[in-house]
Amino acid sequence: MPPLSPGSSSPPNFAAELNEQQLAAVSTGARHALVIAGAGSGKTRTLTYRVAWLLRRGVPGWRILLLTFTNKAAREMLERVQSLVGEEARHIMGGTFHSVANRILRRHAELIGFRSGFSILDTDDQKSLMRSIVKQHVGKRSKTDPFPKADSLLSLHSLATNTGRALHDVLLQESPQNRRHEETLQKIFTDYAQRKRDANAMDFDDLLVNLQRLLEEHEEVRLMMQERFLHVLVDEYQDTNPLQDRLISLLCGGSRTSLMVVGDDAQSIYSWRGARVEHILEFPDRFPDTVLYKIETNYRSVAPILAISDAAIAQNEHRFSKTLRPARREEARLPLVVPAPDNRTEAQYVALSIEKLIASGMRPCDIAVLYRAHFHSLDTQIELTRRHIPYRITSGLRFFEQAHIKDAVAYLRLLSNPADESSFLRMVARLPRVGDASAARLLQAWRTAWLAYAAGHADYSSAPIPFSEIMSAVHPPAAAKPQWDSFLATLESLRPADHELSPSEMIVRVTGDLEPFLAAQYENAEDRIQDLEQLARSMEDVPDLDDFLSRVALLSETDRAAGATDGENCVTLSTIHQAKGLEWRAVFLIFLGEGLFPHHRSIAGGDPREMEEETRLFYVALTRAQDLLFLSYPRYNGHSYDSPYCPPSRFLTSLPPELYDVGEA
Ligand code: ATP
Ligand code: MG
Repeated sequence: MPPLSPGSSSPPNFAAELNEQQLAAVSTGARHALVIAGAGSGKTRTLTYRVAWLLRRGVPGWRILLLTFTNKAAREMLERVQSLVGEEARHIMGGTFHSVANRILRRHAELIGFRSGFSILDTDDQKSLMRSIVKQHVGKRSKTDPFPKADSLLSLHSLATNTGRALHDVLLQESPQNRRHEETLQKIFTDYAQRKRDANAMDFDDLLVNLQRLLEEHEEVRLMMQERFLHVLVDEYQDTNPLQDRLISLLCGGSRTSLMVVGDDAQSIYSWRGARVEHILEFPDRFPDTVLYKIETNYRSVAPILAISDAAIAQNEHRFSKTLRPARREEARLPLVVPAPDNRTEAQYVALSIEKLIASGMRPCDIAVLYRAHFHSLDTQIELTRRHIPYRITSGLRFFEQAHIKDAVAYLRLLSNPADESSFLRMVARLPRVGDASAARLLQAWRTAWLAYAAGHADYSSAPIPFSEIMSAVHPPAAAKPQWDSFLATLESLRPADHELSPSEMIVRVTGDLEPFLAAQYENAEDRIQDLEQLARSMEDVPDLDDFLSRVALLSETDRAAGATDGENCVTLSTIHQAKGLEWRAVFLIFLGEGLFPHHRSIAGGDPREMEEETRLFYVALTRAQDLLFLSYPRYNGHSYDSPYCPPSRFLTSLPPELYDVGEA
């Protein structure tokens, strides 16, 4: 180990707990430093120790700014620093770009035309605001000339904002079909900005944009910030977008500020949010005094996991080439590739393996199940619930909390119990021109009609129910009539006279009825329909309606209970995107079928850059594992949609076979 720099008052643990390359970065005297290294090499650890080093050297905590991918990551890093060097760590400003921007803006909001108590709009707030503005600017939409929906307007707006491009360019490149609306869109976006300002509110992007404006337009604030922060440190730098990068430049523009960024170009996975992998590659050009540090030892994974990860990313041409040596030399199992006959067997295999690992002494929180898309987790959720294995889910709402899933389940609940008020209200709430008052009126009429019918048909739960006939006295508003009729017809079709449908077949029919509604309501309707298809597939083994409904109720109940144990000793279920920077002893990577991962859109698109990003995502997934890695896919994924037989992902078939064992589900 090299000696610590002269005059250092640091305790010897820096040298003991870091390798030479890490220590070189941690103790650098360079003005700017770029640490670029592969996964699991201790980049985050280097940054943490760098903070501790600075504090030890007498830099006051409040003069350090630490920017991380999540606020939780910042908290964990600062806790670690605190354990290394004590209380001074409390004064560090640390968190995501958004949370740091928020804190700075609270103090200076007046300067850019807001008041300090400004509110922050969440996605729902943004959507309803956008919808109301669209309504003002665009008359009734016809089916042949649709106008983009609030969701997609917001993502266009966000992409333009985060990449600093003019709307015109974004439309040209990302959304040519909407170019003809450019003028209207421009007006809508101007209004959107004005309405937010009038309401003293900012959306997420505004936090960054307004901080940029504050720093650009108010020299006194900029100088104050530049004076304040002597050290700015950024983790996961490969995923910063141009706007965040601009903020870094503004904050570090002083003559004294040092900037240290760490990242891995091979793990850049957020281009869809405007991140550009080039930022990290161009860093030395933009900050000329940069010293480049590499770390070439991987501490996280056993050698076979590292070998398979290296092979996976080797297919990509990325410019900073890196070699990673495993620090861990112990005997270890090869990663296991497991083809499962179908999605449910795959989930059973995963749950059973998890059960065995826990029985052998592994803690649930040391285990993760990772996947490309949220809906891939459904079968695993079901199986873990069945086996009472606690899990938390970080990829979004739990499956059964999602609105479209509740909508679909509401049909089946109504079929089983037509007096179920909450399901009825759920159904009418999505009808056009039905507000609270008319919903209450409809419910009253429905109940009267139903009770009259039920009085004469005690056996209604087994015989077909003529919903359209029974409900002929229930009159929704004229605009809602077509949807209402289709809803009744669908309900009726779920219990035909001649044969019995399984709950899974019922879901398929319900999906048909919901499709136009979902398409009109949601920008990501296709994903939601996929969720419903997955629901049908996953419930194929459920024999009857009661069984289905009690299973769903049970799952939703555990959903709530599991929510309470969030963060405790649970198995983690996560999309790969959300798993960035994290590690577990055992990782199950599921749904590795061609078209599932890589995503079929990336295959169909034919853009090699998209496929490279999918490959990086695969690399991120593999490199989360410390000791054990399981790679599985369902050969058969359900009914006869496009192609029920699912070939293994190209990511699997292109791996050298000597790098893994093949298991059986
Ligand atoms: P990623 O690219 O996934 O973000 P990373 O490069 O940030 O990974 P870390 O998460 O910092 O890597 O480190 C990976 C693991 O290796 C952690 O458990 C960390 O504590 C451990 N580690 C890193 N460096 C050392 C070291 N010098 N000695 C012992 N353990 C280390
Ligand atoms: Mg990291």
